[in-house]
Amino acid sequence: MSTLTEELLDFDEALERYDPVMGLEVHVELGTATKMFCSCPTVFGAEPNTQVCPTCLGLPGSLPAVNGTAVEWAIRIGLALNCEIAEWCRFARKNYFYPDMPKNFQTSQYDEPISFDGYLDVEVEGQTFRIGIERAHMEEDTGKSTHVGGATGRIHGADYSLVDYNRAGIPLIEIVTKPIEVPGHLAPAIARAYVAELRDLIRALGVSEARMERGQMRCDVNLSLKPKGVAKFGTRSETKNVNSLRSVERAARFEIQRHAAVLSSGGTIVQETRHFHENNGTTTSGRRKEEAEDYRYFPEPDLVPIAPARAWVEEIGKTLPEVPGARRARLAAEWGISDFDMQSVVNAGALELIVETIGAGAPADQARKWWTGELARTANERAVELSELPITPAQVARIVELLLAGELTDKLARQVVEGVLAGEGDPDAVVAARGLKVVSDDSALLAAIDDAIAANAAVADKIRGGNHAAAGVLIGAVMKATRGQADAARVRELVLSRLS
Ligand SMILES: [Zn+2]
Repeated sequence: MSTLTEELLDFDEALERYDPVMGLEVHVELGTATKMFCSCPTVFGAEPNTQVCPTCLGLPGSLPAVNGTAVEWAIRIGLALNCEIAEWCRFARKNYFYPDMPKNFQTSQYDEPISFDGYLDVEVEGQTFRIGIERAHMEEDTGKSTHVGGATGRIHGADYSLVDYNRAGIPLIEIVTKPIEVPGHLAPAIARAYVAELRDLIRALGVSEARMERGQMRCDVNLSLKPKGVAKFGTRSETKNVNSLRSVERAARFEIQRHAAVLSSGGTIVQETRHFHENNGTTTSGRRKEEAEDYRYFPEPDLVPIAPARAWVEEIGKTLPEVPGARRARLAAEWGISDFDMQSVVNAGALELIVETIGAGAPADQARKWWTGELARTANERAVELSELPITPAQVARIVELLLAGELTDKLARQVVEGVLAGEGDPDAVVAARGLKVVSDDSALLAAIDDAIAANAAVADKIRGGNHAAAGVLIGAVMKATRGQADAARVRELVLSRLS
């Protein structure tokens, strides 16, 4: 385990002296049925090395053939990112030696990407930021190494390593932004919002599930600082394979503080890759970053160039779905909420969960209330994404149903949520096991009310005298006696009628 601790400068202090410049490189694994250059299947989680063939194992004499669906989907992504689509482009070999890359080169695109020069708009704190897209090019994924025996799961200190080539050759799209220069204090949030927007767009296009926890989408965060008022970019670091939205934000924030500490103490930033550590939100040094020339790129001789017909590109353009921004605007109107409220829904990572909860039968306002209230607080306390909480939209919808039917009070509903989150089963099971039923039987309530009146005679006199505000004391006593299982509004009615 690395014990390196980096010096950090306070975030606000860093931004008083420096402006950050970010570059985000996002790899998306396409969800095609077969690989990029062979017909091997791409099922996630299959037994290691069962989805391989001579081509994706890089055996001598094997020849690649391009997956047409992958090219079509690359064009879909390019068009959705407002990019130009190349009239003619080629694959290139990116040469480097790595055990999880059996050919010793990656088939990628270099100076001739399939799409380039686009943008994606993201919203943060009510403002829209246009993120320029430099390029979105096609390439293939590598295999996956597992290092066994060390403390960190990294190669250092491991006893041995295993390689699974099932992932080798799965189509990837690498989407590279232009330099992002935004107000520094918003930079980490904008990085996160960009990746979230891109993920939602990719999903809407139906080209990938883009599940970051499965590595189907991963982000490299490039960051440099330049002193205020200076135009020239500083030296950048590249934090590799950040695999959650929250981590993207944390990595950007950490690197701003780390760079600022180095620069303000007179040091220089080393151009290198860095690893992000989920457990403590820090980064540590990886390897010195190669320059493009180190990869000895050259055009791939085994594949023909790709020249998508303009008519085909136009056809693909006509099939693009509603983009996430337009969908959000439509949903905000349907739910009767403002753009600002919709933004907090999105920031909380609650949009899809709310849509699914409504789909499971809950009214929009209730679905939104639970996911952005109680559940968002819990996710925050546990430092996890909302979607990682062990409660499903269907379960939330059932709790809302019980609440609206009067079988649960708000307070009881919260206890049911707590039970579901604690792994006690479905809402109905929690209600049964914990005995969480509203006491709606008036005679049971009246008995508790009469006890409360007897125990609080002076208060009862005040209420008889017309001081209805004093009823709170009696209602509180009744709620306590019924362990919160009474409907407070009904108790109030009964108290007042009893004492009128
Ligand atoms: Zn294969």
